[in-house]
Amino acid sequence: MWKRIYHTLERTFPSFTVDEWWGVTEPFARMAGSVLVQNTTWINASKALDRLEEAGLLEPAALAGETAERLAEVIRPAGFQRAKSAALLRLAGWVVEHGGVDRLRRLTDSTDELRRQLLLLKGIGPETADTILAYALTRPTISGDAYTRRLWQRLTGEVLSYEQVRRAILAELTEAEDLRRLHGLIVEHGKAICAKRLPRCSACLFADDCRYLHDSI
Ligand code: SF4
Repeated sequence: MWKRIYHTLERTFPSFTVDEWWGVTEPFARMAGSVLVQNTTWINASKALDRLEEAGLLEPAALAGETAERLAEVIRPAGFQRAKSAALLRLAGWVVEHGGVDRLRRLTDSTDELRRQLLLLKGIGPETADTILAYALTRPTISGDAYTRRLWQRLTGEVLSYEQVRRAILAELTEAEDLRRLHGLIVEHGKAICAKRLPRCSACLFADDCRYLHDSI
């Protein structure tokens, strides 16, 4: 089913690219962005990322050496500054401990092991960890976030947990690039077509097979 969903989403957004969707390509910026976007919009997270860059803090060692107070001031546009500055400091420290982002990307440790280590860092939950692993460390994983669960629930009527939907996808798709694209496409579709309120079913390529639409006719 997830392979079919992926191919339908590819047809829905034929010019989609992960880099354009993210808006940032540098791995550590994606790591920091994954923390900054928690409980806020990407617009606000992006403003905080810009301020980190202006302050010379989009580099793990520089960020890890900053004080929590100053960092909280720099990332203010993202909100929850105290919690996020503490999480960023822990994340930057973890990267530095491993010898930097490039070395982390070359590690032969399993994705599950890196995920386990990330989840030990206070302020890094499953969604943030999977986003970091997929988009900064190019690992084959995917977030089972609210967009993903909503799409599955609307198509099938089945309510799955974060971990259940993630495992269902990983049972069908294993290539890191496919998983990165699938998640970005799900989010695009969830924003542009299958919105939380008032989904635009007339513009949706899933309309023929969608439980939600059939039940509402
Ligand atoms: S048909 Fe409607 S409810 Fe179903 S997936 Fe498409 S937009 Fe969402």
